[in-house]
Amino acid sequence: MSDKHIGHQDIGHQHFETLAIHAGQAADAQTGAVVTPIYQVSTYKQDGVGGLRGGYEYSRSANPTRTALEENLAALEGGSRGLAFASGLAAEDCLLRTMLAPGDHVVIPDDAYGGTFRLFAKVVERWGVRWSVADTSDVQAVRDALRPETRLIWVETPSNPLLGITDIAALAGVARQAGVRLVVDNTFASPYLQQPLALGADVVVHSTTKYMGGHSDVVGGALVTSDAGLGEELAYHQNAMGAVAGPFDAWLVMRGVKTLAVRMDRHSANATRVADMLAAHPKVAQVYYPGLPEHAGHEVAAKQMKAFGGMVSFRVVGGEDAAVAVCDRAELFTLGESLGGVESLIEHPGRMTHASVAGSALEVPADLVRLSVGIEAADDLLADLAQALG
Ligand SMILES: *Cc1c(COP(=O)(O)O)cnc(C)c1O
Repeated sequence: MSDKHIGHQDIGHQHFETLAIHAGQAADAQTGAVVTPIYQVSTYKQDGVGGLRGGYEYSRSANPTRTALEENLAALEGGSRGLAFASGLAAEDCLLRTMLAPGDHVVIPDDAYGGTFRLFAKVVERWGVRWSVADTSDVQAVRDALRPETRLIWVETPSNPLLGITDIAALAGVARQAGVRLVVDNTFASPYLQQPLALGADVVVHSTTKYMGGHSDVVGGALVTSDAGLGEELAYHQNAMGAVAGPFDAWLVMRGVKTLAVRMDRHSANATRVADMLAAHPKVAQVYYPGLPEHAGHEVAAKQMKAFGGMVSFRVVGGEDAAVAVCDRAELFTLGESLGGVESLIEHPGRMTHASVAGSALEVPADLVRLSVGIEAADDLLADLAQALG
């Protein structure tokens, strides 16, 4: 696996791995507990009317466990403000309702996460926000999609499920020139592998359900920005709309993040072995993994990512039925939606995660299988895929 150093892995004086464990995590003042406690509390005693002890008043507005996570997330993305939500889509909803008004237009990727597409097509559109899709891996296509009323360019890289790669720095240039904001969904890469703010993005979106949590035991989301004014506006809306991360969920994400670096190294190493094996397999028609030199986005990915991540998709010779059969025969790879946990998952996007985009510009090939490659022994994963392909 590539271990090349990209300069922006250094945030302030400490390295990513150190910040993941320590940022926002000062030992509890009262007990010395080295792990931030779960402050399972809704309200706080005031010393006289308005006399707040730690600045805490009511846990929708702020909660110490959530604050610890939010400071940690801000440090890991190199931003000034982090906000934790009840889910990735709750974070997206807050972002869109903070930044957009009726009549505004957004450019979204032609292979966006299905839930993101649904939020635009079925919810936000009803409030008068317009959207159009573009192949965001093509800088000119994004430029062509801009309208006078465009406010946001939305990017997901690597994308889901086709692992398309978008040049974040190039689109940050396009956005700056046009006076629009660039939003990057960094769920697939995680801040260990890719830091969009340092590449010029305005806001980073996460489903912390995935690699940040990392253990398939929590649903959560996050926003991070380095624009202090926008951070304030987002925090205002987070409180006004209320879809915050609860204390226990915030604690679980924090627990996961501490091992993010070692997990992402292993996910990437295992996925590289899986992609190489699939690329050489006679029953596989095509493999999508940005680490493969023949992948269309390989060069850009190598420029903006530390390694290539744990997601691999492939097309099976024999069409949809053959792809479904591979999913059914897999044993160690668990058949299920979601991704980013320590355990390997397999799924059929056309019938599962991406069923909601059937018939749209975001429809995925029917013979596609998506893998979330976990951190088990790579040899065991290769053996399972070999038997599943038959
Ligand atoms: C899962 C996911 C989301 C949505 O997050 P939830 O936590 O499920 O609400 C958004 N973007 C990407 C890339 C995802 O994988």
